[in-house]
Parts: sequence; C-alpha cells; structure tokens
Amino acid sequence: NVHKNCYRLICVSPCSPLPIEYLPDGITPNNISNDDSNSIMHDDRDLQWINNIDMVDIKSTSEPVFQTDKTDDSNDYDSPLHPYTDMLTNSFCFRLLKSFRYSKLSQSESHRLFDLIHSALPSPNNLPISINKLLQKLELNQNFFRKTNICLLCYKEISDENRVCLSCPTSNKNNIAAIYDSDVKSILCVLLEKIGDTIRVYKNDLILNNDTSGNLDIGFAYAYQNLLHRFSNENFITALMHLDGIGLCKSNKLKMWLLSFSIIELPAKLRYQKHNMVIVSIWVSSKEPIASVWLQKSIKKLEELKLTGVIVNDQTIKLKVLGITGDSPALKIALNFISHNGYYCCYFCYLRGIHQKQKRQYPYECLHQMRTVNSFAQDATAAEQLNRNEKGHLGVSIFSNIVDINFPYGIIVDYAHVSLLRHSKSIFIELYRRLTPYVRNIVDRALIHQPFPHFFHRQMRPFNDLSFVKATEIRNILFYGILPIFHKHVSSEILGHFAMFITALRLLHGKPIFGDRTSDIAGDLLTKYYKDFSLFYDGLENFVLHLHQHFKNQYEMFGAFSHLGSFGQEALIGYVGSNRTGTRFYGDLICKNYSIDFLLHHKMEKSNQFTKIVDGPFDQEFNFDFKNNSLFQLLHSVQCTCASLDSCLTAYRRCIINSQVYHSLQYKRRQKSVSYFVRYTSTAVPNSYLFDNCIVFDCEDYHIATPVSSYDEHD
Ligand SMILES: [Zn+2]
Ligand SMILES: [Zn+2]
Ligand SMILES: [Zn+2]
Repeated sequence: NVHKNCYRLICVSPCSPLPIEYLPDGITPNNISNDDSNSIMHDDRDLQWINNIDMVDIKSTSEPVFQTDKTDDSNDYDSPLHPYTDMLTNSFCFRLLKSFRYSKLSQSESHRLFDLIHSALPSPNNLPISINKLLQKLELNQNFFRKTNICLLCYKEISDENRVCLSCPTSNKNNIAAIYDSDVKSILCVLLEKIGDTIRVYKNDLILNNDTSGNLDIGFAYAYQNLLHRFSNENFITALMHLDGIGLCKSNKLKMWLLSFSIIELPAKLRYQKHNMVIVSIWVSSKEPIASVWLQKSIKKLEELKLTGVIVNDQTIKLKVLGITGDSPALKIALNFISHNGYYCCYFCYLRGIHQKQKRQYPYECLHQMRTVNSFAQDATAAEQLNRNEKGHLGVSIFSNIVDINFPYGIIVDYAHVSLLRHSKSIFIELYRRLTPYVRNIVDRALIHQPFPHFFHRQMRPFNDLSFVKATEIRNILFYGILPIFHKHVSSEILGHFAMFITALRLLHGKPIFGDRTSDIAGDLLTKYYKDFSLFYDGLENFVLHLHQHFKNQYEMFGAFSHLGSFGQEALIGYVGSNRTGTRFYGDLICKNYSIDFLLHHKMEKSNQFTKIVDGPFDQEFNFDFKNNSLFQLLHSVQCTCASLDSCLTAYRRCIINSQVYHSLQYKRRQKSVSYFVRYTSTAVPNSYLFDNCIVFDCEDYHIATPVSSYDEHD
C-alpha cells in the first residue's frame, strides 16, 4: 500500500505546549567536520590559550586596555550582569561559554567576540575581563588530563620541551606519541554526583531483572546478571570499555585513539550520550598504539578504582569491568592479538583460516574448537614468555587484569563495524558492481528519494559514493532500503540469501521478537548464510564474515546489539576528534575542550533544571484549517457534538512520545521525514485517548492508522 499523502498532525490534548528549548539532547544533528584547513594562523593563540588557562596572572593579549579592572574575589556572580538588566552574571557567563563552545569558535575568535561583547556592555558591569578569568570564576578551568610524551623507539618518556628523544639518534616527530591520561576518579565523581540517582533507579530494575521496556538492554542479559549475582553484597557501577581510533589530519596521518567507558547501570538512552561516557586515555600519534606502553598508568588507575572505589555522598562506589568492545583493529590492540588477516585471528575459537588467491579466507567449518577461559589465558602466557605467536596471541592483554568477565567471554564485537561498515558495505558494493550502469542509476535515485522518519537524521546514500558512509547510514539501507529496491534488479536466489543475513541482524539488533528463541533463529539464519556464502560470492569469506558465527552467543551474553554502544562510541570519538580548531597541538586542545564541555554540561544543568523532557504536544499551529479534510469532522463527531470544529480542536506541529520528537507536515523544517502523529482525547474521560498515539496516512480513497509504537525501534 502506497502512502501517497501523509496527513497533518492534530493533537487534541489538554497538555500545554513546551517551549522549544526543552528538546532532548539528541535532536540537533551533530556536525562533525574533519576539516583541518581552517584557522592556520591561530596556532600561537591556541598554544597561548593552553598555557594561560591555569595561570590567571598572565593576561590574554586580547584583553582590552580600556577595561576597568575588577578584583577577582568580588562576589558578584549572583547579582545582575549590569544595572540595566535582571540577567544574572552567572547565567550569562554559562550561556556565553556554551554558545562559544557550541559554535566551535577557535580560541582567538572567542577572545575577539568576547572583547566585542564586553566593550558594548554598560559600565560598570560584572562580566570578567577575559575568557580565562571567566573559566576560573565558573570553576571550569580544571583540565582532567595529564600529558606524557613517549618515544616509540625506546619507550622512554620525553619532556614536553624536547621535540625529539635525546637518547635515540633517529628520533623524529613521527615516532613520538602523546598520551593524555585522564583523572578518571575526578571525572567519575562529577558524573556520579550528577547522575547517581538515575543509576540507582535503573540498577534496581536490573537487580529485580525487571525489563519493563522488553528491549533486552545489556544489563538484563546473562553477563551482567552474572556479575550482579557474584557481587551481590557490593555497591558498584559497571564499565564497558570502548577502544577506537580515528584519523585527525589527512596530511600527516596523525591518528587519535580513545579508551573510554560507558556505565551499564545507566538506561541505554543516557548511557551513550557523550557527556555520560568517561574518557580514560587518549593516544595521539601517527603510529598505532602499543597497549602496554599507552595504558600502563590508566590500567593502574582503573585497578585502584576497582579496589577502593570513589566516595560520592558518603557512599563508596566500586568499579567493575564487564568487558571490552571495539572494531577488529582495536580489539587486536586491546587483546594483544595478531591482525585480522592472520592464522588463528579469531578471539573466540581456534579457526585457522586458509590462504586462497593471495587472501586469507575463513570458509565455513562445521565443527571448530572454542577457546575457553583457561586456554585463552594459557596461550596468552605462553606467547608472552616465549615471545612468539601462540595460536593468535602475541602476549597477555593488559585488560585481562581488570575485566570481571574473563576473556574470551568479556570480548564484545563491535557490531556496527563488523556487520555494517565491513560486511554489509562490501556486499552492497558487490551487488552494485553486478548491475548495469543504467540500473545503478535507477537504484541510486530510489535510495535518495526514499523518505524516512526524521529521527534517522539523514537520508539514504546513493551507492556511487560509500566512501565516508556512517554505520547508521548502512543500517538504514540494510534494514529499509536493500530488499524493497534491489528485488527488482537482482536474482531472487542472491537476494534471498542476503535476506537471511538482513533478517538475522534485524532480530539481533532490537528487542527479542521471538522471546527466548530469538538468538537461536538468528543464529540458524547466520549459519546458513555463512555455509552457502561461497555459492554466491568469491573471495569475500573474510574474518568479519566468520565473526557472525559468534553473534548468537554475543546476543545471549550482552543483549540487543543496538544497546552495545557502537553507535554512541562513533559519535563520541567524532565529537572528541573534531574538538579542535587549529592545525597543531591537537591533543592539548582536544583535552582542554573536552574538560570544559564536560564541566559546562554537568554544572550548567545543575544550575538550570530545565532538562526534563515531558511527553506531549508542543509548537501550536494557530492557523490550521480543520475543514480542509472531512477526516477531522468525522473523527470529531465520534467524540463531540459541538459545531465549532476550529475552537474545539487544537493543532500542534510537533509532539514528544517516549522522549522522541515527532513532526507533522505543518512542521516546515521536517524536510522529507514521515513521522506523523495524531491522537484524540476523549472529552468524557479526561486524559484518555481515543486513538492512542496513531499515525494517520491519508491515501487516495482511504486512511490507514498505525500505532506509533510500530515506529519505536530506531535506536
Ligand atoms: Zn628514544
Ligand atoms: Zn571464531
Ligand atoms: Zn467539539
């Protein structure tokens, strides 16, 4: 059934509309740019900013000379900014800083704008004389990171002044790594003070195994429930470690690697918000990190947190570590394993792999021996002692000391990378390659014009440009684009085979549709898909395809894949990596800006409690014509006998359901989205809805109403 015209949003509801500022965090699309071309001239200013930030006495050069000097201890923060306003200094400063950070101004641009604002204010006023002083006053000048430079030839520390290692004659900037270890304890304290209550409430649900949403979030799956059982008399929060790398600059191949963790005891929606994830350490270098060199200090800090914990509100909260997740290159580093094209590269089983047409291939094998906790540890120790490759191990993983679910069981495959960015993408490219240029054109057009619910943030990408595609884009094409579009152009055998893969992932992605049988069904589909793979494709039986054989176990251990954080991690590292404006001193700026943002976010909301998201309609449409379609008359007459349709019904442009904003056609900025929403209140019984949260599609001769809940699975 073709939904030709989708109808307008009407909400007849007693709820009052919400102001626009009340929108949840995820609404605004994140503009992540990797552009390193701008503001080359700001280098010196950026460096100065870094040096000055903790030294209050050094004035920024942009400090205007005409400013009247204010003493630093003047306690004027709760007073108005100046005599002609009732805006408080404190709140103005917060908002100013937040705007500066939000618009990603370089430091020198911020200084310039700050000076301009300052010069236009009536005198006297309470605005601090420089941004540095402002940061100091708001107590946002805390840098959570400590920098260490390491020579990658001798692994010795080198001081910040020296640009090369003095004991290595061939040392140059390419074999130096900058490590930024965070003060995990302080970050956790700020975080727990802020979100401790949310954690307590959700943890209670986890302890009762009370999965109200039925989403099989990670905390309701076997691994975490097992932890709860083992440490039932301890007060703890649980970390899921994430390791990931990203390119910072195309010209010098500089890469940033990030070790962070998310907190399992936070509800999934909050867990992967960038401000709720804890950054443990950052590695900036053109060389790949060596975990034992990079994470030595950080792992010690984590061990300490596991032992002594942090004290928040007189309560000791210890840390547990559920496991580690990342893509194949990251897991190779974290687990001290050989790379994904070597023999025995699977961390879960002893699959050897074969050499075929200059490629390492891993064809389906019916029986393969699984690695166990004992064999994993033994092989790793042997590799370490004998300094050789032992069944894929190159040594003992630095994480093996801190994980509470022993390897290999504490390893979580990054599904966004393995299934979406690697396997699905290569199948897309292969299927596309088999089409004629004429059909490729048709397919690309169909993909671009496919409408989506607006919360997908982006439309589908044509296949002629998949180079910088995001995991979420691949997911959208996989779940919503491939089958409806390709069935006209590809043989049913090939598409039917691929459909097994899509169906299996669809099952593993979300809530267990078939209950306890969900993982079995998905597992069977994936096994069949893998088994028959060589009938349809040549030379694509790589390690990522093999990993799908372990997905059934992964789902049973860690729950629905959409809650495993790969998408959140993608956003976090993108945000952290883009958190710089100059072309040098990447790491320093990244850490500085992260610290400011983190504190700004958690302190800002502490002072302004307007972040609560209330379900209901908002953004009223006053000029809506209810007589333009007989549908409204019809629906109104079911409920009400009055004659004045326009005064009886109220139209809204947007509505929040389950913290998700839905748009109507009346909402002009919705672009091509299709998330329309209609609901009708009963006049007899207040607060009860006649058509409970329905989406109405107005087709040519009829209407289709579908419940909003069927649009609920998008994250
Ligand atoms: Zn050296
Ligand atoms: Zn395996
Ligand atoms: Zn009426």
